[in-house]
Amino acid sequence: EITAAGIGKAYGDFHALSDISLTIGSGEFLTLLGPSGSGKSTFLMILAGFEEPTSGKLHKDGLDITRVPAEKRAFGMVFQGYALFPHMTVEQNIAFPLKVQKRSARDIKRRVDDMIARVGLRGHEHKRPAGLSGGQQQRVALARALVFEPSVLLLDEPFSALDKNLRGAMQEEVRRLHQETGTTFVFVTHDQSEALALSTRIGIFNQGRLQQIGTPKDVYERPANRFVAEFLGDVN
Ligand code: ATP
Ligand code: MG
Repeated sequence: EITAAGIGKAYGDFHALSDISLTIGSGEFLTLLGPSGSGKSTFLMILAGFEEPTSGKLHKDGLDITRVPAEKRAFGMVFQGYALFPHMTVEQNIAFPLKVQKRSARDIKRRVDDMIARVGLRGHEHKRPAGLSGGQQQRVALARALVFEPSVLLLDEPFSALDKNLRGAMQEEVRRLHQETGTTFVFVTHDQSEALALSTRIGIFNQGRLQQIGTPKDVYERPANRFVAEFLGDVN
């Protein structure tokens, strides 16, 4: 369980995030929605440990992780532009986090083989990223992020560059991986249908503030304010 309490992030006078408080349950699939510039990526970077908040606290399972560096948090990440290593094969890319952890060669082989099968990349093990389609590259990124069995996976618009069909396929993939692994997913997207299809809860951001957080049904049927209602395209 992750708890954010009063998280703020200021760049000079500009408040990218103000007073974000929420709890992400273990195994939950939380989607963050909101217009461009509303602070979604900033919040994800703070969860990951790549940015320090200027105010507030972050706890994981009761421990204060506010100042714990990203390497120590060891969350899985699939970010916009968080690229694959171009000189490495699919297999080597996926194995990389395990090599960093100095796992045994046997353990690495077993886990990498398993992940390759899970994300449907059998037969592509020895290709380099340049020889893969966009969707296949995203599958490698997903496999690499999940191979060390992180307790938390952070995804920032991982499918934004893909066409509609591929997006649908990746959506299915993500849903299945969530169900199979029990990992906590925090997912940023612009795509409302994606959010509806995948999430246990949706958090809606605007101008650095959390406007509402609830189940898809909650936010669609009972938007907390005018912004949420208009953003979801359902003005009552
Ligand atoms: P998008 O949907 O376009 O990805 P977002 O919701 O992810 O948007 P963020 O990237 O979190 O938005 O940015 C929130 C605000 O903080 C934006 O106005 C952005 O310009 C600002 N911001 C982000 N990083 C910095 C920085 N390093 N310095 C100054 N301002 C920043
Ligand atoms: Mg963003």
